[in-house]
Amino acid sequence: MPSQSAANSALLADLPPLGLTPEDLASDIRRHFVYTLGRDRLGESPHYAYMALALAVRDRLMERWKNTQEAYRRADCRKAYYLSLEFLMGRTLSNAMLNLGITDAATRALNGLGLRLEEILDSEHDAGLGNGGLGRLAACFMDSCATLQLPVMGYGIRYEYGMFRQTIENGEQVEEPDHWLRNGHVWELERPELTVRVRFGGHTDPGSQHGRWVDTQEVLAVPYDIPIPGYRNGTVNTLRLWKAAATDEFGLNEFNAGDYTEAVRSKNLAENITMVLYPNDASENGKELRLRQQYFLASASLQDVVRQWVAIHGEDFSRFAEQHCFQLNDTHPSIAVAELMRLLVDEHHLPWEEAWSITTRTMAYTNHTLLPEALERWPVRLFRQLLPRLLEIIFEINARFLGEVAARWPGDLDRLSRMSLIEEGWQQQVRMAFLAIVGSFSVNGVAELHSNLLKQGLFRDFYQLWPHKFNNKTNGITPRRWLAACNPGLAALVTEAIGPGWVTDLSQLARLAPYADDAGFRERWRAVKRANKERLLAYKQAELGLWIDPQALFDTQVKRIHEYKRQLLNVLHVIHLYDRLLRGDTQDWTPRCVMFGGKAAPGYAMAKRIIKLINNVAAVINRDPVVGDRLKVAFLRDYRVSAMEIICPGTDLSEQISTAGKEASGTGNMKFMLNGALTIGTLDGANIEIREEVGADNFFLFGLTAEEVEDLRRHYDPVSIIEQHEDLRRVMDLLESGVFNRDEPGIFDSIIGSIRSPWDPWMTAADFPSYVEAQRRAAAVFRDQEQWTRMSILNCAASGKFSTDRTIAEYNRDIWKLEPVRPLS
Ligand SMILES: *Cc1c(COP(=O)(O)O)cnc(C)c1O
Repeated sequence: MPSQSAANSALLADLPPLGLTPEDLASDIRRHFVYTLGRDRLGESPHYAYMALALAVRDRLMERWKNTQEAYRRADCRKAYYLSLEFLMGRTLSNAMLNLGITDAATRALNGLGLRLEEILDSEHDAGLGNGGLGRLAACFMDSCATLQLPVMGYGIRYEYGMFRQTIENGEQVEEPDHWLRNGHVWELERPELTVRVRFGGHTDPGSQHGRWVDTQEVLAVPYDIPIPGYRNGTVNTLRLWKAAATDEFGLNEFNAGDYTEAVRSKNLAENITMVLYPNDASENGKELRLRQQYFLASASLQDVVRQWVAIHGEDFSRFAEQHCFQLNDTHPSIAVAELMRLLVDEHHLPWEEAWSITTRTMAYTNHTLLPEALERWPVRLFRQLLPRLLEIIFEINARFLGEVAARWPGDLDRLSRMSLIEEGWQQQVRMAFLAIVGSFSVNGVAELHSNLLKQGLFRDFYQLWPHKFNNKTNGITPRRWLAACNPGLAALVTEAIGPGWVTDLSQLARLAPYADDAGFRERWRAVKRANKERLLAYKQAELGLWIDPQALFDTQVKRIHEYKRQLLNVLHVIHLYDRLLRGDTQDWTPRCVMFGGKAAPGYAMAKRIIKLINNVAAVINRDPVVGDRLKVAFLRDYRVSAMEIICPGTDLSEQISTAGKEASGTGNMKFMLNGALTIGTLDGANIEIREEVGADNFFLFGLTAEEVEDLRRHYDPVSIIEQHEDLRRVMDLLESGVFNRDEPGIFDSIIGSIRSPWDPWMTAADFPSYVEAQRRAAAVFRDQEQWTRMSILNCAASGKFSTDRTIAEYNRDIWKLEPVRPLS
């Protein structure tokens, strides 16, 4: 009798491969339009044309997906799992076509049907299941893992509502719910047969050895799989997102007692778990529902993996650690450490020591921030109520761990309390980052500076105990989405010059450098940039409502709005430029368009006030006839992945101006560099490595170093800095005069107060003078278009390091140690 696996592959082998010609695609688009969607007029709505094309593309992904997964099953190989509360995927269609190599064929197929690809692509809703850099990193990682043919699976949450949509009313941010699933999500495949149960509440029963967590409430975790295609290599990996659903027995007691509404209420309670993404970036939330989400993801994913193991290997876990690695994307999923212990000890009856050995050989933790407000701590009281068995396990891990510390440093009680997984105080808290470190064999930061600061500061005690655990993995971006797909003009020019190899080996961009000295090439480079600037203007025309000179310096800061990122410093510079125009200091003026974009966490009052300030300053400057076309300011609403795909190709100057030591890495900085923008920036995060790669001459550096920031903190005196620097004094005078808030008295007092405060953690005033000076240098170079273009080419040429292919190759070399697997074909 043929094995199940052989039968499966026979089923696949019998299916003829789907064609990739324009004719094949056109016929499938029509078939899906008529038969799958039941429509008859193609041109009527771009949505159904999008659906028909997406289904035709999805069929082709499906073939490769099945072949890849079958190859993984047969290889029975070591695998890695990327656990993340966020995957900021953005749109899927154009990336899928690029990776399948069918963009041209699809364009021709659509033209033949009287349709335009661009319009169709634009009707796709972003999958906004993340806040910012951390979630986008997870998405870029998935692309690179598939491109490198590594057996890696992503595990995340299928939020019903993703990142909120941002509108601006009267200059202020207004949040609107993002019901991204309303029109269905063609790219997902529900797998109800793989549903698992996740438990909450109840209590532990000290009487029994195993399975001692009782009287719990159960929630179903239903997986939805999303295909992740590699670049033209036949591999399609899986992103598995969990949705919460009520069990059938949920609320049955109430239902039988006749209380229908109570039964439905408890059903809602279960399904609430995956209802909404918490919109906080780089700050902890502390809500019970958030802890539920974290445990829900960790438990469902680990159960899924363990179940597959047991199905093949039975209860023999001796090789489990050899075959699995879990990468924790920040502390958000770090409860996985305790959950794997629970599964192994309680459900599979392994002795503690054996389970701990397995856990600490499979878990690896990536830290994403040094900001203390982002470090997750959960009250012990909440843990006891929601996850009592997990709390017991954490206490046991802690007791054994502190024993180890005490043996190494006898009598050092201070150290014991510093390193304890449990923080004492008015309420006891579980320190999730420490749980992640203790339970992992690898701890990494996301840029050289950040990894070093972790070892010297936040995790110093742990570094002394386990120096071998600590390593760096500088972040990256995928060159498929962030150049090949989003900037076809530049991609074609690059390919013409150095061939197409850069798409999967970004270090080849170095071969562009000699072209910086080729006047004809520079001319063409400039023409592409110019076209991309026009595209950006066209995209934003309706909402901008003002004319912008495409020859102006496009100066862009898009990222989450946060004090440490210092959008405020940028606004102060804009006010300074306005001041110069007002006082007629306009010799050698460089026309400039300053663009801002980004969302503020809804509860972050200061960040929201900064958005208001940007918009008020823009309103005054844009309508002042003294200014004319020499300065324009725009706030681009609803910054998201698909917006960045148009913004970064159309930008000249990239603003990366965080207070040194605060931005762990940044990845927006890399997207701009790859697309030929020059950077004005501090020595922070990956900016340092960007400057190293491109050379100091091709980077506009300013500001204090991380070390200088910490030294200055003790005697920081912004008021005297303001007094000593006339430019800054005049800016503060303008701000305080109320010209930017004529009918809104006092609304910017909190901002003004923060700049003047000696406790300003972001030390905005300290860096203002050197920032203005660097901006002057940038403006001067921009007037020399040949020189600017030369530097633009050199920036692109030096960006090869910042591919996630390089990042992932390092994760694999140092942490995951996976062998690439070729799909069946
Ligand atoms: C790349 C990206 C980010 C990260 O930007 P940083 O400048 O590194 O903070 C955030 N949001 C979106 C939509 C992105 O594409």
